[in-house]
Amino acid sequence: MGIVIGSDFGGTNLRVALIETHGKILTQHIEKTSFSDTNQLIIEKITGQFQKIIASAPEKPLAIGIAAAGLVDSTQKKIVFSPHIPGFENLPLGEIIENQFNIPVVIENDASAAALGEYTFGASQGYRNTLHATLGTGIGGGIIIDGKLYKGKDGLAGEIGHLVFNPSGKQCKCGSKGCLETLASGSAFADQAQALISEGQAPILESIAEGQKPTAKMLYAAAIKDEKAAIETIQKGGQLIGLGLVSLINTLNPDIVTLSGGLLNMGNLLIEPLHKIIRIQKYGPAQQTPIIETQLGENCGLLGAAALALNKLDTSHRE
Ligand SMILES: [Zn+2]
Repeated sequence: MGIVIGSDFGGTNLRVALIETHGKILTQHIEKTSFSDTNQLIIEKITGQFQKIIASAPEKPLAIGIAAAGLVDSTQKKIVFSPHIPGFENLPLGEIIENQFNIPVVIENDASAAALGEYTFGASQGYRNTLHATLGTGIGGGIIIDGKLYKGKDGLAGEIGHLVFNPSGKQCKCGSKGCLETLASGSAFADQAQALISEGQAPILESIAEGQKPTAKMLYAAAIKDEKAAIETIQKGGQLIGLGLVSLINTLNPDIVTLSGGLLNMGNLLIEPLHKIIRIQKYGPAQQTPIIETQLGENCGLLGAAALALNKLDTSHRE
């Protein structure tokens, strides 16, 4: 037995938790972050959180796992770039935390961490080859091959939100046009909701938004109230995510696909068309591959970070 620290740093919340090695979360601190936070302020918030949680630990934590939104260089323990947190740019966060607290740190992209969390504690336990997709503000992915997180040469594998669907489509932050993330994600749904209002196609959504910029949540609220354009937008998104998964399943032939993220709150409206498009595939492995939702809920990233920390301990024992 022992304790590790798992932390999940996303676009809205900074979460840090003490977690037992079998995955039980003991205590957790959550702090809000905002788009306007400076680099320095984010580091202060994060180190403050680690300070508090380490002080409250019944014993010294063995390792710290960090799951962070964006491009992460796990070898250099650095956040290279985050589209949702401007302060996270070329930030050697792992090194800063390791030096300050003298506890080994491992850091990964949050979707890769989620894949490992699901594999270690959640829905894909017992499978050797898994694909995990995080469906939130953006779309991320993590791949486990033969029981190991597949990272690729630069540690950037699994960027499934940047599968190109329409080369003449909308400009994506990554440099390409028409990526899956620009067509079906929390931010894509928000943009599409705005367009529906501007075109006068969504009076219910317009009244929900009350003059504010609509969100994906508002789009869903309008769909629940039977707004046709909102329903169709979400269904189309589910279909496109499903098509992305078809391509990936045909490429990787995983044992199982797991899904997490805030868009799952859209329930069957999003998920049914996703499944449907996968199930009509006649050739290849897509039709038979189980596609299931996370068993770890909103703790997917935190427990993924704990799994990263545990992996690190396993490796150093063997070294
Ligand atoms: Zn892209």
